[in-house]
Amino acid sequence: MSKILTQDKLKEIISTLISDSKRVVAPVSTAGKYFYREVSNSNEAIFNSVIKPTNSIKEFFFPQHEKICNYCYSGKELIVSDAELFESEQIIFGSRPCEAAALPVLDKVFSWDFQDRFFQRRRKQTTVITLACVPDDFCFCTSVGLSADNNSGADAMLIPIGNNEFEVRLFTEKGKLIFNDKIIESEKSGDVSDSPKIKFDANTVQNYLSEHFGDDVFDRLSIKCLGCGACTYVCPTCHCFDIADEGGASCGNRVKNWDSCQFAFFTHHASGHNPRGNQSARQRNRIQHKFRIYPDKFGSILCTGCGNCARECSVSLGVLPYVELLEKKSKSVEKSKES
Ligand code: SF4
Ligand code: SF4
Repeated sequence: MSKILTQDKLKEIISTLISDSKRVVAPVSTAGKYFYREVSNSNEAIFNSVIKPTNSIKEFFFPQHEKICNYCYSGKELIVSDAELFESEQIIFGSRPCEAAALPVLDKVFSWDFQDRFFQRRRKQTTVITLACVPDDFCFCTSVGLSADNNSGADAMLIPIGNNEFEVRLFTEKGKLIFNDKIIESEKSGDVSDSPKIKFDANTVQNYLSEHFGDDVFDRLSIKCLGCGACTYVCPTCHCFDIADEGGASCGNRVKNWDSCQFAFFTHHASGHNPRGNQSARQRNRIQHKFRIYPDKFGSILCTGCGNCARECSVSLGVLPYVELLEKKSKSVEKSKES
Protein backbone atom coordinates (compact mmCIF):
# COMPACT_ATOMS: atom_id res chain seq x y z
CA MET A 1 0.00 0.00 0.00
CA SER A 2 1.15 3.55 -0.77
CA LYS A 3 0.34 6.87 0.82
CA ILE A 4 -1.50 9.20 -1.55
CA LEU A 5 -2.01 12.97 -1.49
CA THR A 6 -4.17 14.98 -3.91
CA GLN A 7 -3.08 18.31 -5.45
CA ASP A 8 -5.91 20.03 -3.57
CA LYS A 9 -4.76 18.63 -0.23
CA LEU A 10 -1.19 19.70 -1.00
CA LYS A 11 -2.42 23.25 -1.64
CA GLU A 12 -4.39 23.12 1.61
CA ILE A 13 -1.24 22.10 3.50
CA ILE A 14 0.76 24.96 1.96
CA SER A 15 -1.99 27.52 2.68
CA THR A 16 -2.22 26.41 6.31
CA LEU A 17 1.55 26.62 6.78
CA ILE A 18 1.61 30.15 5.31
CA SER A 19 -1.27 31.29 7.49
CA ASP A 20 0.59 29.84 10.50
CA SER A 21 3.48 32.24 9.62
CA LYS A 22 5.78 29.48 8.41
CA ARG A 23 8.20 30.33 5.62
CA VAL A 24 7.26 28.20 2.60
CA VAL A 25 9.64 27.86 -0.34
CA ALA A 26 8.82 26.21 -3.68
CA PRO A 27 9.68 26.45 -7.39
CA VAL A 28 7.96 29.48 -8.97
CA SER A 29 7.91 30.82 -12.51
CA THR A 30 9.58 34.21 -13.10
CA ALA A 31 10.28 35.80 -16.49
CA GLY A 32 10.21 32.46 -18.32
CA LYS A 33 12.53 30.71 -15.87
CA TYR A 34 12.00 28.81 -12.61
CA PHE A 35 13.47 29.68 -9.24
CA TYR A 36 13.11 28.40 -5.67
CA ARG A 37 11.49 31.32 -3.86
CA GLU A 38 9.42 32.00 -0.76
CA VAL A 39 5.74 31.83 -1.76
CA SER A 40 2.92 33.91 -0.36
CA ASN A 41 0.12 31.65 -1.60
CA SER A 42 -0.17 28.02 -2.64
CA ASN A 43 -0.99 28.82 -6.29
CA GLU A 44 2.52 30.22 -6.87
CA ALA A 45 4.15 26.83 -6.15
CA ILE A 46 4.80 24.72 -9.26
CA PHE A 47 5.03 20.95 -8.92
CA ASN A 48 6.44 19.64 -12.17
CA SER A 49 9.14 16.95 -12.21
CA VAL A 50 10.49 18.21 -15.53
CA ILE A 51 11.40 21.76 -14.48
CA LYS A 52 14.90 22.49 -13.19
CA PRO A 53 14.98 25.73 -11.17
CA THR A 54 17.95 27.96 -11.95
CA ASN A 55 19.03 28.56 -8.38
CA SER A 56 19.78 26.01 -5.69
CA ILE A 57 18.01 25.44 -2.38
CA LYS A 58 21.39 25.96 -0.65
CA GLU A 59 20.60 29.69 -0.33
CA PHE A 60 17.88 28.87 2.23
CA PHE A 61 20.56 27.33 4.48
CA PHE A 62 23.62 29.33 3.43
CA PRO A 63 22.35 32.74 2.21
CA GLN A 64 24.30 34.79 -0.33
CA HIS A 65 24.73 37.48 2.31
CA GLU A 66 24.46 36.87 6.04
CA LYS A 67 25.18 39.05 9.03
CA ILE A 68 27.26 37.22 11.66
CA CYS A 69 27.84 40.02 14.17
CA ASN A 70 27.43 43.77 14.68
CA TYR A 71 30.12 46.17 15.86
CA CYS A 72 29.80 49.67 17.22
CA TYR A 73 32.18 52.05 18.96
CA SER A 74 30.92 53.80 22.06
CA GLY A 75 33.63 56.38 22.64
CA LYS A 76 36.82 54.28 22.63
CA GLU A 77 35.01 51.09 23.60
CA LEU A 78 34.16 48.60 20.85
CA ILE A 79 30.90 46.76 21.45
CA VAL A 80 30.45 43.54 19.48
CA SER A 81 27.12 41.70 19.55
CA ASP A 82 26.09 38.44 17.91
CA ALA A 83 23.70 38.55 14.98
CA GLU A 84 20.36 36.85 15.58
CA LEU A 85 19.99 33.27 14.46
CA PHE A 86 17.24 32.23 12.04
CA GLU A 87 14.09 31.81 14.13
CA SER A 88 11.30 30.90 11.70
CA GLU A 89 10.34 27.43 10.64
CA GLN A 90 10.76 26.89 6.91
CA ILE A 91 9.44 24.18 4.64
CA ILE A 92 10.86 23.65 1.18
CA PHE A 93 8.44 21.94 -1.21
CA GLY A 94 9.32 20.53 -4.63
CA SER A 95 13.10 20.43 -4.20
CA ARG A 96 14.85 18.23 -6.72
CA PRO A 97 16.20 15.14 -4.90
CA CYS A 98 19.78 16.02 -5.98
CA GLU A 99 19.40 19.45 -4.33
CA ALA A 100 18.32 17.83 -1.04
CA ALA A 101 21.19 15.33 -1.34
CA ALA A 102 23.61 18.26 -1.19
CA LEU A 103 22.53 19.07 2.39
CA PRO A 104 24.27 16.13 4.14
CA VAL A 105 27.32 16.98 2.01
CA LEU A 106 27.27 20.60 3.25
CA ASP A 107 26.66 19.41 6.85
CA LYS A 108 30.17 17.95 6.86
CA VAL A 109 31.72 21.26 5.79
CA PHE A 110 29.79 23.40 8.26
CA SER A 111 30.34 21.11 11.26
CA TRP A 112 33.84 19.80 10.67
CA ASP A 113 36.41 22.06 12.41
CA PHE A 114 34.20 25.10 12.97
CA GLN A 115 30.57 24.65 14.04
CA ASP A 116 28.65 27.11 11.85
CA ARG A 117 25.61 27.75 14.04
CA PHE A 118 23.94 29.90 11.36
CA PHE A 119 23.87 27.01 8.89
CA GLN A 120 23.09 24.46 11.59
CA ARG A 121 20.12 26.45 12.90
CA ARG A 122 18.60 26.72 9.43
CA ARG A 123 19.04 22.97 8.92
CA LYS A 124 17.25 22.30 12.21
CA GLN A 125 14.40 24.71 11.38
CA THR A 126 13.82 23.38 7.85
CA THR A 127 11.79 20.51 6.44
CA VAL A 128 12.61 19.42 2.89
CA ILE A 129 9.93 17.80 0.71
CA THR A 130 11.39 16.64 -2.59
CA LEU A 131 9.64 15.93 -5.88
CA ALA A 132 10.89 12.89 -7.81
CA CYS A 133 12.75 14.15 -10.86
CA VAL A 134 12.62 13.48 -14.59
CA PRO A 135 16.31 13.75 -15.59
CA ASP A 136 17.28 15.91 -18.58
CA ASP A 137 20.35 15.92 -20.82
CA PHE A 138 22.50 17.65 -18.17
CA CYS A 139 21.70 15.31 -15.24
CA PHE A 140 24.09 12.58 -14.07
CA CYS A 141 22.97 11.73 -10.49
CA THR A 142 23.47 7.98 -10.92
CA SER A 143 27.18 8.50 -11.73
CA VAL A 144 27.67 9.98 -8.26
CA GLY A 145 25.71 7.31 -6.38
CA LEU A 146 22.27 8.96 -6.35
CA SER A 147 19.01 8.51 -8.32
CA ALA A 148 15.92 10.38 -9.50
CA ASP A 149 14.14 9.30 -6.28
CA ASN A 150 17.02 9.22 -3.77
CA ASN A 151 15.99 10.15 -0.23
CA SER A 152 19.26 11.66 0.97
CA GLY A 153 18.66 14.97 2.78
CA ALA A 154 14.87 14.74 2.31
CA ASP A 155 12.19 14.50 4.98
CA ALA A 156 9.57 13.29 2.51
CA MET A 157 9.17 12.85 -1.23
CA LEU A 158 6.30 13.37 -3.64
CA ILE A 159 6.06 11.17 -6.73
CA PRO A 160 3.43 12.30 -9.24
CA ILE A 161 0.57 9.98 -10.22
CA GLY A 162 -1.04 11.60 -13.27
CA ASN A 163 -1.79 15.31 -12.92
CA ASN A 164 -3.74 15.41 -9.68
CA GLU A 165 -2.17 13.05 -7.18
CA PHE A 166 1.16 12.15 -5.58
CA GLU A 167 2.53 9.10 -3.87
CA VAL A 168 4.08 10.36 -0.62
CA ARG A 169 7.17 8.69 0.84
CA LEU A 170 7.87 9.72 4.43
CA PHE A 171 11.45 9.51 5.68
CA THR A 172 11.55 11.46 8.97
CA GLU A 173 9.29 12.64 11.79
CA LYS A 174 9.50 16.18 10.37
CA GLY A 175 8.18 14.86 7.05
CA LYS A 176 5.33 12.97 8.75
CA LEU A 177 4.24 16.08 10.65
CA ILE A 178 3.74 18.04 7.42
CA PHE A 179 1.31 15.55 5.88
CA ASN A 180 -0.35 14.33 9.04
CA ASP A 181 -3.94 13.27 8.32
CA LYS A 182 -4.01 14.57 4.73
CA ILE A 183 -2.77 11.35 3.13
CA ILE A 184 -4.76 8.23 2.41
CA GLU A 185 -3.70 4.61 1.84
CA SER A 186 -4.06 3.32 -1.71
CA GLU A 187 -2.95 0.56 -4.11
CA LYS A 188 -1.74 3.26 -6.55
CA SER A 189 1.89 4.29 -6.76
CA GLY A 190 3.93 6.93 -8.58
CA ASP A 191 6.20 6.17 -11.52
CA VAL A 192 9.86 7.00 -11.05
CA SER A 193 11.70 8.09 -14.16
CA ASP A 194 14.49 6.21 -15.88
CA SER A 195 18.10 7.04 -14.95
CA PRO A 196 19.88 9.91 -16.71
CA LYS A 197 21.54 8.97 -20.01
CA ILE A 198 24.89 10.44 -18.98
CA LYS A 199 27.03 7.94 -17.11
CA PHE A 200 30.66 7.93 -15.97
CA ASP A 201 32.62 6.16 -13.27
CA ALA A 202 33.42 8.60 -10.45
CA ASN A 203 35.99 6.24 -8.86
CA THR A 204 37.94 6.13 -12.11
CA VAL A 205 37.93 9.94 -12.21
CA GLN A 206 39.01 10.19 -8.56
CA ASN A 207 41.91 7.77 -9.05
CA TYR A 208 43.05 9.49 -12.24
CA LEU A 209 42.94 12.93 -10.58
CA SER A 210 45.14 11.63 -7.73
CA GLU A 211 47.88 10.76 -10.17
CA HIS A 212 47.43 13.58 -12.72
CA PHE A 213 47.08 16.81 -10.74
CA GLY A 214 48.00 19.14 -13.59
CA ASP A 215 46.49 17.16 -16.49
CA ASP A 216 46.28 19.06 -19.79
CA VAL A 217 42.48 18.52 -19.78
CA PHE A 218 42.28 21.69 -17.69
CA ASP A 219 44.17 23.81 -20.22
CA ARG A 220 42.28 22.33 -23.15
CA LEU A 221 38.77 22.87 -21.84
CA SER A 222 39.19 25.99 -19.70
CA ILE A 223 40.26 28.22 -22.60
CA LYS A 224 36.62 29.21 -23.14
CA CYS A 225 35.73 29.68 -19.44
CA LEU A 226 34.72 33.28 -18.69
CA GLY A 227 35.43 33.06 -14.96
CA CYS A 228 31.93 34.35 -14.25
CA GLY A 229 31.35 31.99 -11.29
CA ALA A 230 27.76 31.21 -12.33
CA CYS A 231 28.50 27.47 -12.12
CA THR A 232 29.47 27.82 -8.46
CA TYR A 233 26.52 30.03 -7.51
CA VAL A 234 23.93 27.62 -8.91
CA CYS A 235 25.76 24.58 -7.52
CA PRO A 236 24.03 23.05 -4.46
CA THR A 237 27.36 21.84 -3.02
CA CYS A 238 29.71 24.81 -3.68
CA HIS A 239 30.18 26.68 -0.44
CA CYS A 240 33.00 29.25 -0.70
CA PHE A 241 32.43 32.48 1.19
CA ASP A 242 34.31 35.57 2.26
CA ILE A 243 34.04 37.49 5.52
CA ALA A 244 33.83 41.29 5.21
CA ASP A 245 33.12 44.23 7.49
CA GLU A 246 30.40 46.36 5.94
CA GLY A 247 29.48 49.67 7.53
CA GLY A 248 31.02 52.94 8.61
CA ALA A 249 33.99 53.81 10.84
CA SER A 250 31.92 53.68 14.04
CA CYS A 251 29.27 50.99 13.42
CA GLY A 252 28.66 48.16 11.01
CA ASN A 253 28.19 44.47 10.46
CA ARG A 254 30.58 41.60 9.94
CA VAL A 255 29.03 39.56 7.11
CA LYS A 256 29.50 36.29 5.27
CA ASN A 257 29.17 36.71 1.47
CA TRP A 258 29.26 34.00 -1.21
CA ASP A 259 32.56 33.83 -3.06
CA SER A 260 33.72 31.65 -5.95
CA CYS A 261 36.92 29.76 -6.76
CA GLN A 262 36.30 30.80 -10.38
CA PHE A 263 36.91 34.49 -9.62
CA ALA A 264 40.41 35.73 -10.46
CA PHE A 265 40.71 37.53 -7.11
CA PHE A 266 39.69 34.51 -5.06
CA THR A 267 43.32 33.50 -4.43
CA HIS A 268 44.98 36.82 -5.22
CA HIS A 269 47.58 37.56 -2.52
CA ALA A 270 48.28 41.03 -1.10
CA SER A 271 51.77 40.69 -2.64
CA GLY A 272 50.20 40.64 -6.11
CA HIS A 273 51.00 36.95 -6.63
CA ASN A 274 48.14 34.65 -7.56
CA PRO A 275 48.80 30.90 -7.13
CA ARG A 276 45.84 30.18 -9.42
CA GLY A 277 46.68 32.78 -11.98
CA ASN A 278 44.51 31.56 -14.87
CA GLN A 279 41.15 29.92 -15.51
CA SER A 280 42.75 26.54 -16.13
CA ALA A 281 44.20 26.50 -12.59
CA ARG A 282 40.85 27.65 -11.16
CA GLN A 283 38.91 24.91 -12.96
CA ARG A 284 41.55 22.37 -11.91
CA ASN A 285 40.90 23.40 -8.33
CA ARG A 286 37.12 23.02 -8.72
CA ILE A 287 37.30 19.57 -10.29
CA GLN A 288 40.06 18.33 -7.95
CA HIS A 289 38.10 19.56 -4.94
CA LYS A 290 34.80 17.98 -5.98
CA PHE A 291 36.02 14.63 -7.26
CA ARG A 292 39.20 13.93 -5.24
CA ILE A 293 39.99 16.28 -2.30
CA TYR A 294 36.54 16.34 -0.66
CA PRO A 295 35.97 12.56 -1.24
CA ASP A 296 39.43 11.80 0.22
CA LYS A 297 38.59 13.85 3.32
CA PHE A 298 34.88 13.17 3.88
CA GLY A 299 34.20 9.96 1.95
CA SER A 300 31.59 11.35 -0.44
CA ILE A 301 31.65 13.29 -3.70
CA LEU A 302 31.16 17.07 -3.62
CA CYS A 303 28.73 16.85 -6.53
CA THR A 304 25.20 15.47 -6.76
CA GLY A 305 25.00 15.35 -10.56
CA CYS A 306 22.25 18.00 -10.72
CA GLY A 307 23.67 19.43 -13.95
CA ASN A 308 23.04 23.05 -12.84
CA CYS A 309 26.63 24.08 -13.64
CA ALA A 310 26.31 22.99 -17.28
CA ARG A 311 22.68 24.08 -17.68
CA GLU A 312 23.51 27.65 -16.61
CA CYS A 313 26.98 28.05 -18.16
CA SER A 314 26.93 30.41 -21.12
CA VAL A 315 29.82 28.58 -22.81
CA SER A 316 28.58 25.00 -22.21
CA LEU A 317 31.15 24.00 -19.60
CA GLY A 318 30.32 22.92 -16.03
CA VAL A 319 32.00 19.88 -14.51
CA LEU A 320 30.75 17.28 -16.99
CA PRO A 321 33.10 17.87 -19.96
CA TYR A 322 36.06 17.62 -17.55
CA VAL A 323 35.03 14.40 -15.85
CA GLU A 324 34.04 12.74 -19.11
CA LEU A 325 37.41 13.57 -20.68
CA LEU A 326 39.31 12.56 -17.52
CA GLU A 327 37.53 9.20 -17.51
CA LYS A 328 38.33 8.72 -21.20
CA LYS A 329 42.01 9.51 -20.61
CA SER A 330 42.12 7.15 -17.64
CA LYS A 331 40.74 4.33 -19.77
CA SER A 332 43.29 4.96 -22.51
CA VAL A 333 46.15 4.98 -19.94
CA GLU A 334 44.90 1.62 -18.57
CA LYS A 335 44.63 0.21 -22.09
CA SER A 336 48.17 1.26 -22.99
CA LYS A 337 49.47 -0.38 -19.77
CA GLU A 338 47.82 -3.67 -20.83
CA SER A 339 49.24 -3.70 -24.36
S1 SF4 B 1 32.49 27.21 -16.35
FE1 SF4 B 1 30.94 28.53 -17.29
S2 SF4 B 1 29.69 29.23 -15.56
FE2 SF4 B 1 31.62 28.47 -14.68
S3 SF4 B 1 32.98 30.24 -14.56
FE3 SF4 B 1 33.38 29.28 -16.55
S4 SF4 B 1 32.04 30.34 -17.99
FE4 SF4 B 1 31.26 30.82 -15.93
S1 SF4 C 1 29.25 20.47 -9.75
FE1 SF4 C 1 27.59 20.86 -11.21
S2 SF4 C 1 26.50 18.90 -11.36
FE2 SF4 C 1 27.78 18.80 -9.52
S3 SF4 C 1 26.44 19.46 -7.83
FE3 SF4 C 1 27.53 21.29 -8.57
S4 SF4 C 1 26.18 22.19 -10.12
FE4 SF4 C 1 25.45 20.09 -9.75
